[in-house]
Amino acid sequence: MLKTLFPNGLKKAFTLSYDDGCYDDIRLLDLMSRYKIKGTFNISSGITRPEGQEPCGPWERMCPSELENYAREGVEVAVHGVRHRDFTKISEPELIYEIMSDKQAIESTFKTVVRGAAYPYGSFNDLSVKTLAKCGIKYCRTVWSDYSLELPADWLRLRPTAHHNDPKLPELLEKFLNEQPENPRMLYIWGHTPEFRRDGNWDLIEDILKKVSGREDIWFAENIEICEYDLAARSLEYSADGKRVYNPTAKRVWLELPDKKALEVSPGETKEISL
Ligand SMILES: [Zn+2]
Repeated sequence: MLKTLFPNGLKKAFTLSYDDGCYDDIRLLDLMSRYKIKGTFNISSGITRPEGQEPCGPWERMCPSELENYAREGVEVAVHGVRHRDFTKISEPELIYEIMSDKQAIESTFKTVVRGAAYPYGSFNDLSVKTLAKCGIKYCRTVWSDYSLELPADWLRLRPTAHHNDPKLPELLEKFLNEQPENPRMLYIWGHTPEFRRDGNWDLIEDILKKVSGREDIWFAENIEICEYDLAARSLEYSADGKRVYNPTAKRVWLELPDKKALEVSPGETKEISL
């Protein structure tokens, strides 16, 4: 088996994940557009601010007409439970409703097929993991930082690298930017945008985005793009002698040859591996 590379032979991926569908997301979306950063917003579509009501509270959601702010290049909108109920404290039918009703509302607003999610309160158990998979969800993020730049072993129990306020984040960011990794690395930052307002630290996230922006060694991607790319790379099949690789997926996948050159395998293609 060859090592996986990210698209175009890169070894680093950067992504953001912000929860709750808050009004302050608009400011982060504008920063992401300015610095060409991609990411994911997890929304509870059953909890919105009434149309016409000014955002005045500390944790204001978007009103329905503001949801169009998410409809931009490089932004994924994902499930966060239609009423933001704790997935571990509700019955199976209620859980299915929380997931599917949110998925359906997002899909009808954004004309898409939703495959991503984040756990409300970060809470999950075996039943919620199984139910998400049955509902067509490919990854679901928890709130427990793993302080790691490795790709997750289990995308339905995805642990972020760190929250934006985490004191360990600056060191992880420097490591991510400066190291020449052997294996693919992902820096995954999560949070809620009202926290920037509460803490008066919008400059913190802008500084991070400025630092990573424009780096040619980083793949900027939505959560689902990294997840589905990794799942595709794990689906490659090798010949018995390891001299040939077959790509059964619909994604183009890049691998690292022993001489460190990149090998690109197109969907449906079988490629010789020159050792
Ligand atoms: Zn939440």
